[in-house]
Amino acid sequence: MPDKNASAIVVGGGPAGLTAAIALAAGSIETVLVGKRPAANDNRTTALLAGSVTALATLGVWDLCTDQAAPLRVMRIVDDTGRLWRAPEVKFEANEIGLEAFGYNIENRHLVAALERRARTLSGLRIVEDEVLNVVPGERAAAVSLRNGSALTAELIVGADGRRSLCREAAGIGIDEQAYPQVALTLCLKHSRPHRDTSTEFHTPSGPFTLVPLPGQRSSLVWVLDPADADALSSFDDAELADEIERASHSILGKIEVEHGRGRFPLTRASARRFAANRIALVGEAAHVIPPIGAQGLNLGLRDAAAIGERATAAHRAGHDIGGINVLVAYNRMRRADVGTRTLVVDLLNRTLLTDFLPVQGARGLGLYLIDRIGPLRRTLMREGVASTAAQPRLMRGDAL
Ligand SMILES: Cc1cc2nc3c(=O)[nH]c(=O)nc-3n(C[C@H](O)[C@H](O)[C@H](O)COP(=O)(O)OP(=O)(O)OC[C@H]3O[C@@H](n4cnc5c(N)ncnc54)[C@H](O)[C@@H]3O)c2cc1C
Repeated sequence: MPDKNASAIVVGGGPAGLTAAIALAAGSIETVLVGKRPAANDNRTTALLAGSVTALATLGVWDLCTDQAAPLRVMRIVDDTGRLWRAPEVKFEANEIGLEAFGYNIENRHLVAALERRARTLSGLRIVEDEVLNVVPGERAAAVSLRNGSALTAELIVGADGRRSLCREAAGIGIDEQAYPQVALTLCLKHSRPHRDTSTEFHTPSGPFTLVPLPGQRSSLVWVLDPADADALSSFDDAELADEIERASHSILGKIEVEHGRGRFPLTRASARRFAANRIALVGEAAHVIPPIGAQGLNLGLRDAAAIGERATAAHRAGHDIGGINVLVAYNRMRRADVGTRTLVVDLLNRTLLTDFLPVQGARGLGLYLIDRIGPLRRTLMREGVASTAAQPRLMRGDAL
């Protein structure tokens, strides 16, 4: 095994990996981030919930992209299933729980650009644009080999290498995975009416159709569909697709103009059986994948990044091994409940939409009715949605590492 080149190596330069690398470097841990460019442009947006925004501000990232983000002050859920048991419309307002906004929606390309800019200013963080071909955990350090022929070793490897994670495999961690019969189409659009800082999630029998505000008279759309319908819509030109979107959104945003760039994501749920082992800690989609309902996926990934930054920094300050068993066990414990409950809730919500079973549809309608009518229940859900009580790493509370 070659000499140790850094204390930590982060594999993967997506939003979760960049955040983990910045957090580690902020904790004075010598870090190398190795990331290859993604195959396709990411035209998705992320609704960053309040805790994530606080963490990014604490890490010095938020100031670099705040102008490109739009506040989410109101979230509406509209039952558009046309079924017998239809739920009432539910409206969540941030000011009801004393917040100016639940969070902010930003295009992933702007978020990643801000993270990259911040990462390049940190002296303890080196970025290598390359692909990791192999990861070998060892007793005192772990090694990675790169496509350029070089090798690096460190005490801790952070696997932020997405759904098909090489790091997860190298750590010997299994994954429970399930595909849904759904595809998400994503795009950004302009509209003639203002969104009033309101995101609207129409629940349809094939999944949610969600419009989320962007700065100005623009919004992002995540449209979850049956794969055959997604194929049909994908063949539409921009004008035809704009008409379909206007129809599906009941014209709430007026006339629609579709912007360049469409994404297509088959929906899956996946959860690593452990989040760390053998000097490797998993963050982001290397650890968990959930359907895009309720804006949870990357928010979970940012909490992973903040948590591994926190545990590794504490060990580093105490002069302990940052990739040792104590750090990995503590990280796993910190993330287990948060990821488990969010995955379960999102999965259940999705399934209640897909089912034809009347009692389940009725229960879903009743649940939303109760949320609409019972203020304390609604407020508890809003607080839990924005900031999980089970897992609030220091950065999410605005405390530096
Ligand atoms: C339609 C849709 C909408 C969504 N909306 C939201 C939302 O509103 N809010 C929210 O919180 N989440 C949302 N999500 C989830 C969110 O997009 C993901 O959680 C997030 O993009 C995952 O980031 P990541 O950094 O973990 O992975 P990725 O973005 O996949 O990054 C992994 C990186 O690792 C690199 N890589 C892979 N292998 C290697 C290797 N061997 N060597 C070097 N580099 C490697 C890849 O090139 C890539 O850059 C949504 C997801 C979908 C599908």
